[in-house]
Amino acid sequence: IVTACVNDEQNRISDNAPDLIEDNTQDEQKIKIGFSMDTLEEERWHRDRDLFQKALEALGAEVEVMNANVDDAIQIYQAETLISKGVDVLVVVPNNAEATAAIVNKAHMSGIKVLSYDRLVKNAEIDLYVSFDNEMIGELQAEAITNLVPKGKYVYIGGAATDNNAHLLKKGAFNVLQPYIDRGDITIVYDQWTTDWDPANAFMNMEEALKANHNQIDAVIAANDSTAGGVIEALAAQGLDGKIPVAGQDADLAAGQRIVEGTQTMTVYKPIMTLATEAAELAVMLAKGENIEAVRKINNGKIEIPSILLNPISVDKQNIDQTIIADGFHSKEDIYINV
Ligand code: BGC
Repeated sequence: IVTACVNDEQNRISDNAPDLIEDNTQDEQKIKIGFSMDTLEEERWHRDRDLFQKALEALGAEVEVMNANVDDAIQIYQAETLISKGVDVLVVVPNNAEATAAIVNKAHMSGIKVLSYDRLVKNAEIDLYVSFDNEMIGELQAEAITNLVPKGKYVYIGGAATDNNAHLLKKGAFNVLQPYIDRGDITIVYDQWTTDWDPANAFMNMEEALKANHNQIDAVIAANDSTAGGVIEALAAQGLDGKIPVAGQDADLAAGQRIVEGTQTMTVYKPIMTLATEAAELAVMLAKGENIEAVRKINNGKIEIPSILLNPISVDKQNIDQTIIADGFHSKEDIYINV
C-alpha cells in the first residue's frame, strides 16, 4: 500500500483559498455549478463546501449549494431545483447511491453533466467520479489495527449501507482481515452497518457488541471518525476506552484529540483541499465541454465511469504532527488541547 507523502510543497494543504488569479469573466457568462450535498453533519463536509466554493470562485465560476440533511427525497427535489435554475454542471454527493440515479437522468435530459463527488452514484451514466481511494482507506485501517492486534475478537462498525463508500471501506478492511480470519487468528464477533452514519446508532451497535461478547473484544474498526466517536463512548461506559484499539477515518478534530489522548488508535486523513480543488477544475472543464482524460474507470453497475481517486494517508500518534498538523488541516494547539 502506497502512502502519499504530504510533506512536499505540491501536496502541502492548507485551508486557504488556492492561489489562483481572479477571473474577470462577465457575470452573465459565469459558469454556474450546482452542488447537491447529502449532509453537513460531519465536520469534513463544511470544508468540502467552503473549499469547493473558493476554488470555483477563483476559476471565475459560481456555485449554488444545497444540503439535503440526509434525506434522499429532499436531495432529489433540490437537484431538480438546481437543474431548473439552469446550472451548467451538477456536482452530487449522493445520500443514497441508487436513488440518486434519478437525478442524473433528469440532468442529462436538460443537457447538464453530472460529477459524482466523494461518493459514487450507482446505476446511472454519470460523467465523472472524483474521490479518495476508499478501498485503500479500509486497508489502511485494518493494517494499522492488525499490526497492534494480530489475534483476537474484532468488531466492524460499518458506515451507512446506502453509501457506496461504506461498501468500499468494508471491502478494503476485509482484504486485510481475511487471511487472519482464514488462519483462525481473528474472529469477527460483530459486524453491522450504521444507519445514516449516525454516531448515536454506532454507539448503540457497540453497546450491543459489548453485551453480546461480555466485553471480551480486542479491536474495533469503525468506518469513520464520527462512528468511532460513538464506539469510544460505548467503550468508556464500560471503562474500556483507551484499552481497545479503535480505527476511524476523516481526521476530524475530535479524532485527532482522541488519538493524542490515547482513546482512538488511528484515523485516515484525506486532504479535502485536493479533492475540492480537483473537482472544481473538472466541473468547469465539463461545463466548457472539454475532454477529460481519466486513466481509471470504475464500473457503477451501468457503465465504466472515468474516475479520479486520490490517495488517503494513515495517521496515528506517531505521525500526526507530520501529516494533519504540518498540512494546517488542524492546528497543534487544537489537537493537543487536552494533553
Ligand atoms: C465519506 C466520509 C464521511 C461519511 C459520512 C462517506 O461517504 O467518505 O468522509 O465521514 O460519508 O458523511
